[in-house]
Amino acid sequence: MSQDFNGFGLPAKLLQSLARMKYDTPTPIQLQTIPLALEGKDVLGSAQTGTGKTAAFGIPLIVHLMNNPASTALIMTPTRELAAQVRAALEPMLPFDVKAALLIGGESMPKQFSQLNQKPNLIIGTPGRITDHLMRGTLKLERADFMVLDETDRMLDMGFGIQIDKVLTFMPKQRQTLLFSATMPANIIKLSGKYMHKPERVAVGSTTTPAANIHQELVHTTDTDKYTQLLAQLDQRKGSVIIFVKTKFGTEKLAKRLIASDHKADAIHGDLQQRRRDRVIRNFRDQRYRILVATDVAARGLDIPHIEHVINFDLPQCPEDYIHRIGRTARAGADGCAVNLLTPADGAKWKAIHRLMHGKDDPSMPASYAKPSGGGYKGRGGYKGKNTGPFKGKSADGRFKAKSGEGGYKGKPAADGGKPAWKVNKPRNKANFKPKKAA
Ligand code: AMP
Repeated sequence: MSQDFNGFGLPAKLLQSLARMKYDTPTPIQLQTIPLALEGKDVLGSAQTGTGKTAAFGIPLIVHLMNNPASTALIMTPTRELAAQVRAALEPMLPFDVKAALLIGGESMPKQFSQLNQKPNLIIGTPGRITDHLMRGTLKLERADFMVLDETDRMLDMGFGIQIDKVLTFMPKQRQTLLFSATMPANIIKLSGKYMHKPERVAVGSTTTPAANIHQELVHTTDTDKYTQLLAQLDQRKGSVIIFVKTKFGTEKLAKRLIASDHKADAIHGDLQQRRRDRVIRNFRDQRYRILVATDVAARGLDIPHIEHVINFDLPQCPEDYIHRIGRTARAGADGCAVNLLTPADGAKWKAIHRLMHGKDDPSMPASYAKPSGGGYKGRGGYKGKNTGPFKGKSADGRFKAKSGEGGYKGKPAADGGKPAWKVNKPRNKANFKPKKAA
């Protein structure tokens, strides 16, 4: 049954804003979350990346603030970029009497003090900086009776559990809480038991399954050939690319190497100054360069519609991060590709990723990948057994086309229109919902 936003009984002003933003049809997570949250219920939500989660919590939050002008709402996210992105996504929906403040680390305190002097009733930020303001007394949350925890699994992974606990001591006990997490491990369920009141569970698809419109490929290579393989992949593809590497140092090194190989690239990682991080993201968003080399932390939650390819130069540290990484492409119903450069040492990691997604081993793994040389995952459902599957070149369910040497992107026709080839985007797949125009 399709429904439009009118069916939720939203205030007319908000409906007008949504219409201006070309949000015609609610996405599945919005359909599930908005009615429950409008009834005042706590919601524990899991959704695949790019499903419209921000508006799913943002719309009820705005309605709450419109109905309760003396209230404050708080949104906490794991990273600065995600907080800024959430603010940017909600800004066009905000009525003029809702004032938002962005409180993130790495930004000047005086700038944030002046935002706080305006008496904002919507606080968006990262747990560290929010705690900092609470301790200084520059932020008061005794009226914050609506809270959103976004990407909660990542916040806990990053060690923000203690700060979240602290922030909650400054908030009223009587409040509405919406908690979103891409995965639902035991610690999240425990957290929800501690901080939520009879939460309603909502989920879209499986959080261990990437979106169906992401085409995944394996490219078998060796450490020595990896860079050459990467160049071959970049040459065969068009459109913006995000490349994930393991270390902060690795991002900068690879970006420099790519620039030396005549590619337009930049690097982002958690150690860069906030101003630099903002600039790198802004320039990538504006397609001033084609390739962003990133660590997991820096790329979490990024919503950049023109990313067509995710290349895992190094596999991620934990299998769940694979789902997040590849979710940077195929945003809002578009198509995308995920390419994994696999060396024999990655066998154990790939096995854990495949198990997370399919509940079984990947039969396409070459036997030589069976014995990992220390590259497996420890503690998070990692590889403990032995891969006995013969290499058949294609996995049993046909989703992965293993390629030896040549990565086989049989993509699109050549670019046109005078744009550089990589700037020509793929047509969007409208099956999921009508995506809005790229901002
Ligand atoms: P999110 O998962 O919140 O990051 O959203 C992913 C993308 O979908 C963003 O670019 C949103 O602006 C867009 N979006 C979210 N909800 C809708 C909707 N109902 N209609 C059209 N676009 C949407």
